[in-house]
Amino acid sequence: MKEIIEKYDFKFKKKYGQNFLKDKNILESIALKSEIDKDTLVIEIGVGAASLTNYLSLYSKNVLAYEIDETLKPIIEEELKDKNNVEVKYIDFLESNVVEDIKKYEYSKLYVVANLPYYITTPIIEKIINDKLDVDKIVIMVQKEVGDRFSAKPSSKEYNSLTVFLNYYFDIKKIINVSRNCFIPVPNVDSVVIEMKRKKDKYIVNNEELFFKLVRDSFKYKRKNLRNNLKGYNLDKINKILSKYNLDLTVRAENLTIEQFIDISNKLNEEQ
Ligand code: SAH
Repeated sequence: MKEIIEKYDFKFKKKYGQNFLKDKNILESIALKSEIDKDTLVIEIGVGAASLTNYLSLYSKNVLAYEIDETLKPIIEEELKDKNNVEVKYIDFLESNVVEDIKKYEYSKLYVVANLPYYITTPIIEKIINDKLDVDKIVIMVQKEVGDRFSAKPSSKEYNSLTVFLNYYFDIKKIINVSRNCFIPVPNVDSVVIEMKRKKDKYIVNNEELFFKLVRDSFKYKRKNLRNNLKGYNLDKINKILSKYNLDLTVRAENLTIEQFIDISNKLNEEQ
């Protein structure tokens, strides 16, 4: 990879979070551990010098990839010249119409795989959810701390509304630890690869809009308890539900499980 970067005199751009994976074992193990197969369409976000793309191409049916930085085009074209199952779109994934883009493909499994700049991890996941992209799995490299947040348990300091939303849709687990030394340039944090698998037995939420609003409002002010964060709600009713769990309105959102949020939102919905 070093050679090709030098050959094209490529300058890494900080603003795009460009840290390319160079470790062959890690690259291969991302492709293998995500269980990509010849029925899988992989959407890759952030191609870089196509090192991961190459492995994804090897194991999948097709790869549809997005890269924001057009100056990478000559490198990507050279690296992928022998691949006939990869399409690269040079646009910002957040601005893309990915639901439209995948229509021409045939596949039985849809995966998103990405080694992404850390600051766009959350917007990307939100886009996947908001666009209702019907993914079976998201495999994503994130900064170690962000990974801890995604898989955080209630009452830990990483647990927040995003944790609840993600755990509503996905079963989440860490699959690979990645040292900072596996990248060029070397970033100042270590990373983990997280797997988010679409839940088979989805929770039963009777009113998703209400559920999302309840969770967001409950976490609104981190230090405040439910009584203060949920002022516009039927607090008597919420208190009754909480009492089932030996809790009351002085509890904070960070101490509630997803099942408890769902219980509250379903009971509040009954009276609407
Ligand atoms: N997947 C490669 C590159 C990782 S670096 C590897 O593992 O080596 C992250 C890449 O994401 C960079 O190439 C950067 O230009 C690209 N990128 C950053 N923001 C993006 C966006 N919004 N949409 C598409 N690609 C983006």
